[in-house]
Amino acid sequence: MIKHKVLIKEDENLEAAIAGIFQTLGPAKLRKKRILVKPNMLRSANPDDCVVTDPRLLRATVDFLLESGAEVVVGDNPMPDSRNMNELEVAQSCGFTDAAMGRFRNIGRYSKKIVRKANLLKELYISREVLDCDLLVSLPKFKTHELTIMTIAIKNHFGVIPGGQKLYIHSLFPKINDFSKVLLEIYQTRPPEIIIVDCLNIVDARGKKFSPGRLIAGDNGHAVDYTCALMAGVSPYHIPTVRIARDEKIFSPDNIEYHGVVKNIDGYTLPFTFPLRNTIVELFARFFYQILLKRVPVINHARCTRCSSCENVCPPRAIRKQQIDYGACIKCYCCLEICPNQAIRIKYKTI
Ligand code: SF4
Ligand code: SF4
Repeated sequence: MIKHKVLIKEDENLEAAIAGIFQTLGPAKLRKKRILVKPNMLRSANPDDCVVTDPRLLRATVDFLLESGAEVVVGDNPMPDSRNMNELEVAQSCGFTDAAMGRFRNIGRYSKKIVRKANLLKELYISREVLDCDLLVSLPKFKTHELTIMTIAIKNHFGVIPGGQKLYIHSLFPKINDFSKVLLEIYQTRPPEIIIVDCLNIVDARGKKFSPGRLIAGDNGHAVDYTCALMAGVSPYHIPTVRIARDEKIFSPDNIEYHGVVKNIDGYTLPFTFPLRNTIVELFARFFYQILLKRVPVINHARCTRCSSCENVCPPRAIRKQQIDYGACIKCYCCLEICPNQAIRIKYKTI
């Protein structure tokens, strides 16, 4: 039986902790390996807000990998910002461009279609950088989530889906159980080899801040999420992805091999749970996604130079001769990100 290692590092010098994690979980040789480090870049945020990965953790990871001779890219792709900030500006606000030392990339620009007939999600688009790297290192933030209670390793992996397509998938699967199954399908398509959860400074559902000074690392996202739920003081099976992974026999806590002590974070609060919670949250989610789905890309023909970049990057080939077929558009907004002339904007459209 394969054991899933989970390491808990507390109050340790970050550099020493990262070196220890890679020694236990990493491959023997990192030299010349193409490594993609994926932090959690939800949106433009100050690191003190505790909703994105702490840039100190990102910096220590990148430093370690570079010193080991690896070829490092740091990447994520948030949903398009309502203030029309581009992804580099978002990364800058999170402290990621400095922490990545010039290696930050938007990984949502180029994607590959994957067909999985047996899945709930029959077709998905995954960032090429994710599929092409030798080693994927995920740096999720320890935090709560209104829909999935907590969002750690499995949810951070949703970021391998190009920008706005995440929203489209949400809208196709508004039920929490279905959406959680889809998260598991995406995770299994190309799981990370190493996960290091940022539990240095965190915030709970009531906005209270804590400084546990911990890193929780592992080679299996389910084992890591299970452990984080224990630390948050909740039954891990309240987290839908953990429960479904157990029920579908993808994961069993009996296979976790702990290196370190699992301790509660006293007073940490999770989103309120009550009998009809899922039904109510799903209704709100449906309404919210239907509104957001009306945000479509629109080409400003006065600015367009007909360079065809948008046409080439569009995953479902919904753009032909600078005209968008909204029936085929999956709202990934790759076209908006690639356009060199800012000739594409998001607008609300009633179609
Ligand atoms: S037109 Fe194509 S690239 Fe643009 S949002 Fe729609 S699907 Fe994505
Ligand atoms: S990428 Fe921009 S400039 Fe190029 S064809 Fe598309 S809309 Fe026009």
